[in-house]
Amino acid sequence: MSSALVHYTAAALTDRGHKRPTNEDSYGLSLKHNVFVVCDGMGGAAAGEIASAMAVDEAMRVLTQRGPEEEIPDAVRRAVASANEAIFRRAEANPKLRGMGTTLVGLMAAADQAWMVNVGDSRGYRMRDSRLAQITVDHSLVDEQVRAGQMNEAEARRSPLRNVITRALGTQPCVIPDIFPLEPEPGDLFLLCSDGLTGELSDVLLQSLLSLDLRPEQLCERLVSAANLAGGHDNITCVIVKVE
Ligand code: CA
Repeated sequence: MSSALVHYTAAALTDRGHKRPTNEDSYGLSLKHNVFVVCDGMGGAAAGEIASAMAVDEAMRVLTQRGPEEEIPDAVRRAVASANEAIFRRAEANPKLRGMGTTLVGLMAAADQAWMVNVGDSRGYRMRDSRLAQITVDHSLVDEQVRAGQMNEAEARRSPLRNVITRALGTQPCVIPDIFPLEPEPGDLFLLCSDGLTGELSDVLLQSLLSLDLRPEQLCERLVSAANLAGGHDNITCVIVKVE
């Protein structure tokens, strides 16, 4: 258990990739409040962009305005509920936006503790001692099948259903996020990303890229260019948070 107080540096990068006409991913970061969010929107026309931007704005608003008496996990649940409701209501009010939604993965950190949160298939990872571990569990059809032993990882990557997510923000009146407590230690690196990154790069490759002794902004550039080199089939977004 870590008792040292830590602080955080971070960088983020988003890229349209090579195949999609627009970028429906969004991210937010506040180093002042140690709040970091990545969202990957979906829906016709501009709906995906709207949903992911709304989720980031609302989550950042709630989490950066948290009062000192509110515990971080409570604020996280409130942020997710508030973002979900805002998107759901806007979709209900506008037929062109009906069905829009977004994933969300976030990291909220304090000096001695941190939490990851996710809804959908955007992921959160931790690098510690040169080993990469996925913290979040995808809310996706293929991931459920892998966990049930009905499919292996390689089949999941090739499945035509790999983009089907089983939980999203904004598509239902209520959504339950998964929240993962973390004990950050100096030297840890956290990665938040959309599936445009993990769809192109295996965890083994991610681990070797994240092992490079580079600043967060340089690591973000390496990851995005590697995903583009691998095809850039989807929008690519990553946030890297370094614990010092
Ligand atoms: Ca995506």
